[in-house]
Amino acid sequence: MSHFSYLDGALHVESLPLDALARQFGTPLYVYSQAALADNFSAYADACRLAGRGDDQALVCYSVKSNSNLAVLNLLGKLGSGFDIVSGGELLRVIAAGGDPRKVIFSGVGKGRDEMRLALTHDILCFNVESIPELHRLNEVAGELGRRARISLRVNPDVDANTHPYISTGLKDNKFGVAYDDALACYRTAATLPHIDVVGIDCHIGSQLLDDAPLLEALDKVIELIDRLADEGIVLRHLDIGGGIGITYNDEQPVAVGDYLARVFARVDAWRSQRHAGAPIKVMFEPGRSIVGNAGVLLTEVQYLKHGESKNFAIVDAAMNDLMRPAMYEAWHGVQAVQQRPGATAVYDVVGPVCESGDWLARGRALNLEPGDLLALMSAGAYGMTMASNYNTRGRAAEVMVDGDRVHLIRRREVPADLFALESLIA
Ligand SMILES: *Cc1c(COP(=O)(O)O)cnc(C)c1O
Repeated sequence: MSHFSYLDGALHVESLPLDALARQFGTPLYVYSQAALADNFSAYADACRLAGRGDDQALVCYSVKSNSNLAVLNLLGKLGSGFDIVSGGELLRVIAAGGDPRKVIFSGVGKGRDEMRLALTHDILCFNVESIPELHRLNEVAGELGRRARISLRVNPDVDANTHPYISTGLKDNKFGVAYDDALACYRTAATLPHIDVVGIDCHIGSQLLDDAPLLEALDKVIELIDRLADEGIVLRHLDIGGGIGITYNDEQPVAVGDYLARVFARVDAWRSQRHAGAPIKVMFEPGRSIVGNAGVLLTEVQYLKHGESKNFAIVDAAMNDLMRPAMYEAWHGVQAVQQRPGATAVYDVVGPVCESGDWLARGRALNLEPGDLLALMSAGAYGMTMASNYNTRGRAAEVMVDGDRVHLIRRREVPADLFALESLIA
């Protein structure tokens, strides 16, 4: 996380010390680095350019659910990003952020009629359809609107992504996508529907993948299907390999994005020249974590130190409602002192104020702490704020974006009145 580093013992984001941001905006506080975001997106965009692929032959659709703040979407949109959404709400966010609906693809197993209508009205690029009943519903809704829906089928290539079971999505007995063996029949059905345009194929096998071998294996299976479809006269214009590239939380060494994309393009180009007389096919990606994960930290202040018989607890003002990943996936986040202090450390569990034993943020960390110290939970930019809740009637954290030596408040802190503003007493 090169945009977060120590200068004279003080942790900085770009040119700004984090303790100044905590004083100005309070804690808990999500802090993002604009340069980190731009760098991470460029890793994808540059690899497409290097492979000689223009906008019509490659598209990066940022996965909105990983971090959906309007400022984040706006920045990525300006850099040329498309968007992978999983709800109508996310589509409205993309539009509110100035994103281009014609670069939006819509994933998810449970799309509602209203969501389909909204997406069709905005003429999104493609629906990633995940089941036969969804296909029929979409055909119906598009018919009612007098439109045609562009679709790809999300196929389940049945490859093991070697990741946490909760974030593995490409195995057989998984709720996502249509089974590989059923895909041909699904495409045949889709091709007969009057309000459906079959344009692509997609898959997404999991998240936090460190190795690209499973992704390339999935790509090979997708390629095989595209060829079989072409033999039947169903010609696809794009293939979408999903997201899933991992990041370094602790000591993981994920494949470099540029290397992975180069391998994807090399395979695709070799295949097209062999089987399709060099006719190009557009390649799409749906990255989330690898774009925002390491671009953000969660700042928190130590409230109390509790020295138990067998454990020491650092009770901080951030909690599982702010950063759910440890409680949900036993995820590991680095914990850095915002101001380094020499001297003896003790081993702490870093926990929040929420009334749940599952409310922990980090376990067994050697830290030299005093109440009032600031800590940064590292690599919290993805699936941090978007998973935050109001459990225990805690307002969600504020979010700021740092650009060099400037800071922008991009979401104000929720106040208690916000939290019950939608509720009413029985008349
Ligand atoms: C969540 C999700 C992604 C993004 O995954 P990352 O691991 O964050 O890159 C992409 N596509 C789909 C369909 C998703 O559900």
